[in-house]
Amino acid sequence: MKNFIVPVEKLISAFSRLPGVGRKTATRYAYYCINISETEARNFANAIIEAKETVHYCKVCGNFTDQEVCQTCLRGDRSLICVVAEPKDILALEKVSDFGGTYHVLHGLLNPLEGKTANDIRLKELLCRVNEDKVTEVIMATSPTVEGEATAIYISNLLKPLGVKVTRIAQGVSLGTDIEYVDEVTLSRALEDRREI
Ligand SMILES: [Zn+2]
Repeated sequence: MKNFIVPVEKLISAFSRLPGVGRKTATRYAYYCINISETEARNFANAIIEAKETVHYCKVCGNFTDQEVCQTCLRGDRSLICVVAEPKDILALEKVSDFGGTYHVLHGLLNPLEGKTANDIRLKELLCRVNEDKVTEVIMATSPTVEGEATAIYISNLLKPLGVKVTRIAQGVSLGTDIEYVDEVTLSRALEDRREI
């Protein structure tokens, strides 16, 4: 009969829910956890809880922060905004060190087939920023997928009448590639070679 230990199974099933983790890896993680000291185990569990309790969205850009307004919004040039779909995209862009502007996270892309409309992404917040912060340029850094392109064009049509220059990062990346997987050099070039849309 199979040795079925409920707490171990619970741990495996918890790890299985992590992105990119299959049952085999989840089992390895679970066994690893059982072997660590109680202090280590508590620190690990507390790190998850602490992050969950203190990290929220920056009220300006929508990226994760443990402050009311994130460091990038406090220090960056607010007249230059780089628009991305998800917080994880910023991690990739931050590798490109010489970007002195700020970000705006949409938390999604327009997708009419899945019922995702302009009201479901942080578009109103972007318009507010454009009006309040004397924005001169908005760089659309959404992925070159159908949804990413459609969202870029939609936002461009919305902002251009307001006198804001809207640019799109150059397509040094193949169709369907997620921004977060693009290497630093390619991304740096894509940002440098951005063109007006
Ligand atoms: Zn921010």
